[in-house]
Amino acid sequence: MKTNYSGKKVIVIGAARQGLAISRYLAGKGAQVLLTDSRSADELAPARAALANLPVEFAFGGHPESLLEGADLLCVSGGVPLTIPLIVAARSQGIKLSNDSQIFLEECPATVIGITGSAGKSTTTALVGLMAKKHFEMKTSPHRAWVGGNIGNPLIDDLDKMDEDDLVVMELSSFQLELMTASPQVAAVLNITPNHLDRHNSMQAYIEAKSRILRYQHQGDVAVLNRDDEGTWDLRNQVRTDVISFGLKAPAYRENGTYVDDGQIMLQIGGDRLKMLPVEWINLRGEHNLYNVLAACALAAGATIGLPGIQLAIETFDGVPHRLELVRELNGVRWYNDSIATAPERTVAAINSFEEPIVLLLGGRDKKLPWDHLAQLIRKRVSRVVIFGEAGDLIADAIGPKKPGQAMRSVVRCATLHEAIKTAYKQAEKGDVVLLSPGCTSYDAFKDFEERGQAFRKWVNEL
Ligand code: ADP
Repeated sequence: MKTNYSGKKVIVIGAARQGLAISRYLAGKGAQVLLTDSRSADELAPARAALANLPVEFAFGGHPESLLEGADLLCVSGGVPLTIPLIVAARSQGIKLSNDSQIFLEECPATVIGITGSAGKSTTTALVGLMAKKHFEMKTSPHRAWVGGNIGNPLIDDLDKMDEDDLVVMELSSFQLELMTASPQVAAVLNITPNHLDRHNSMQAYIEAKSRILRYQHQGDVAVLNRDDEGTWDLRNQVRTDVISFGLKAPAYRENGTYVDDGQIMLQIGGDRLKMLPVEWINLRGEHNLYNVLAACALAAGATIGLPGIQLAIETFDGVPHRLELVRELNGVRWYNDSIATAPERTVAAINSFEEPIVLLLGGRDKKLPWDHLAQLIRKRVSRVVIFGEAGDLIADAIGPKKPGQAMRSVVRCATLHEAIKTAYKQAEKGDVVLLSPGCTSYDAFKDFEERGQAFRKWVNEL
């Protein structure tokens, strides 16, 4: 339901992409917007310039509680912890909290397909977005598919151009969901593994945040859940809408869901079993990507996207950059960029995507997640490990020294990613895969995982 923002006093915390987008949108609707950020006015000159023609006020270099005086709404960007004093004070004063995703869901006239999970969000979002695009193209329909959210562009920028027969595919992070009280009409939880525990503190709080994507759904909406992931499948008890689940094996009799049978992706729905497409049409590597495709097919079924659009999208989809992206083949060695893998469990998924011997580049800044599962897999499955960056000691300790009887032939420490690449170049033999799947964030040396992935690409292409 649309809100009249005219004359409302709104504080927006966080002058990055989401904060700028929501400031622009609300100022355009006549709200009195004040944008605040702890960074200095100098650092935020570009943010101010981006909003130059709009009636937005700024408070940079901190956020005193006095900002809250007369405020109707506090919009929080995804990167801002809910424990900072301004947010705690707003809550105790009964000021409503929101964010760009929440306002988008409240105001959007189109059906929204929302996707969250610990891993696979961007891949699944991009794939479902492509399905929706192909669907409209093949029907030569004037309607449009919009793709955005946590994957990159804030959707609220385009809200005024959307109409009710369009389809929106939206990636949602647990940070965005944490304060939300609105859910998309078709909503998926892909999987739940320990991630971001530095921010959410406990697994329970993390699951609580993710489950909000389902909690505010209405009758007639569709929830998509992973049958093979216990944490996710447990959420079905909280769902009040129809469920279309996904998993490798067929769902129970009378339940709806996607699965694999005899080399085909299948959909069981309303008592029928339909062949969707052969698994061999999928271009993405790894079982985790098979799950992403099964999830995308379930979401597409939930949003009644036609089968031809689904098939064409899967046949033409080559994945998203920095996710197991093939950078180069050099002297029979294939170099892969999986810079997005900022948690050990992500590196596990990456390793499991290959049959070839692996030279693994691991390191960066630790997120306080458990390393034992990855360390165990590395000793069994990776031939050489090259460690770099701030978390080097911690990772080296977790993996331990090379021992007889293990697949792991060497562990080398380097100071930087660049050095690690040169070391891997010397070590890799014909037929090997060199895999950057760091298991850590990039913040010790790069602005973000994208900058790290671009540096990797550049240095690998210089070899
Ligand atoms: P997200 O948007 O959730 O960060 P991505 O689609 O960008 O996820 O994928 C990032 C990385 O996570 C991939 O390169 C892969 O290593 C891992 N991954 C992707 N999908 C899955 C999945 N379904 N299960 C486990 N790991 C996955």
